Amino acid sequence: MSSVDVEMVKCACQDCVCVVQLSKAVSRDGKAYCCDECADGHKDHAGCEHAGCACHG
Ligand SMILES: [Zn+2]
Ligand SMILES: [Zn+2]
Ligand SMILES: [Zn+2]
Repeated sequence: MSSVDVEMVKCACQDCVCVVQLSKAVSRDGKAYCCDECADGHKDHAGCEHAGCACHG
């Protein structure tokens, strides 16, 4: 039996291409982000640490 019922959402950061599990996402202002950097709007210009993702504010 394999019941995979995980809700996936795209990170709300515009430039981010990451898709995260809703249960593991960082939620900020009602939006779901893949990581704290995205949730904070990359205020330190720190990049998303995921491979292939170019977002960094
Ligand atoms: Zn990302
Ligand atoms: Zn992201
Ligand atoms: Zn981002």
